[in-house]
Amino acid sequence: GFRSAQRISAIGVSEILKIGAVAQRLKRAGRPVIVLGAGEPDFDTPDHAKDAAIGAIRAGQTKYTILDGSVELKAAIAEKFRRENDLVYAADEITAGAGAKQVIHNAFMASLSPGDEVILAAPYWTSYADMVRIADGTPVDVLCREDNGFRLDAADLERAITPKTRWLLLNSPSNPTGAAYSAAQLRPILDVLKRHPHVWLMADDIYEHLTYDGMPFVTAAALEPSLKSRTLTVNGVSKAYAMTGWRVGYGGGPRELIAAMAVVQSQSTTNPSSVSQAAAIAALSGPQDVLVERRAAFQRRRDIVVDALNAIDGVSCRRPEGAFYTYASCAGLIGRRMPGGDVIDSDAAFCRFLLERHDVAVVPGSCFGLAPYFRLSYATSEQNLREALKRIAKACRELS
Ligand code: PLP
Repeated sequence: GFRSAQRISAIGVSEILKIGAVAQRLKRAGRPVIVLGAGEPDFDTPDHAKDAAIGAIRAGQTKYTILDGSVELKAAIAEKFRRENDLVYAADEITAGAGAKQVIHNAFMASLSPGDEVILAAPYWTSYADMVRIADGTPVDVLCREDNGFRLDAADLERAITPKTRWLLLNSPSNPTGAAYSAAQLRPILDVLKRHPHVWLMADDIYEHLTYDGMPFVTAAALEPSLKSRTLTVNGVSKAYAMTGWRVGYGGGPRELIAAMAVVQSQSTTNPSSVSQAAAIAALSGPQDVLVERRAAFQRRRDIVVDALNAIDGVSCRRPEGAFYTYASCAGLIGRRMPGGDVIDSDAAFCRFLLERHDVAVVPGSCFGLAPYFRLSYATSEQNLREALKRIAKACRELS
């Protein structure tokens, strides 16, 4: 029979996927389920990006490109880093892959040996820990408490650093909490890293363009240039330009790291789709007004969600600075009873109750490493959100 590799054995099917499967089953059975689990904008890819892809197909740009991104794509990425982040990277300090996810995977595969540790700021995007494990590394969680704005505390970080620490992974704005770091909030973390020169920083900036209330986005290598020689700045077109399906992500970092990442990519997928690269060039270099409009729409949705959640007895929700998620506490509901008598004893139980009896799918905080919370994605219409929040409020009123 089939025997799976040891590196896969610690990786189970996530609760998120299980909830997704239940939601799909209920939908197929005709139930009006609203799924607030999406990790992708509901908007469409900008027309100029689509047109560039169609043009590339017609122009015969349908062959292999340079392994980790065409000359033109790397130029567009370099210009983006310069224009938006005040970061200067040469072409051999830039890599492009099939999504930010592949870039992160390449970096771990290229750098981790068994026993190497990667510090993750929990709650975090669940993929991080499994990506570390697939690369034979050891994820080390550092909890980010809500009373610290779900941000990593510098002293907690310093305590977690060991001689085996290779990376700190920071994601601002964050999936799942929406928390983002201002320059002042990032500073103490970077000061810790300055004292520990063996620790590299991976900055996952994928939600860069989704910050609200005028909060400026800052990335670590720009704020602290002395760290640039051991920082990988990761980004992509998925979230900013609603281009999740095109699969283009990129990174900027020291050329030795970038070269090692190219080795990994050369023996797995080779270049990201040439057609998608053309679309990404257009998105990065074309008109950027779509970012402003969509940010405004997301901010309106965030406020609708946060206000409605905070009006529910037993639920409390911090107003996040960015991304398109809220991470609300359901601590006040734990111990209450559902109609029929069963007790809500965890965030997972609450989420099951919402889905199975009230047709709303959200993800329990336990999936991300901090309970009892639930993550709600507001990457859907205001109408959907209002209906879903009505259902959540009604569900909570049923608890006693
Ligand atoms: N990083 C974070 C924090 C994410 O939430 C996601 C997608 O959900 C990604 C990276 C991956 O994005 P991409 O589509 O570029 O692979």
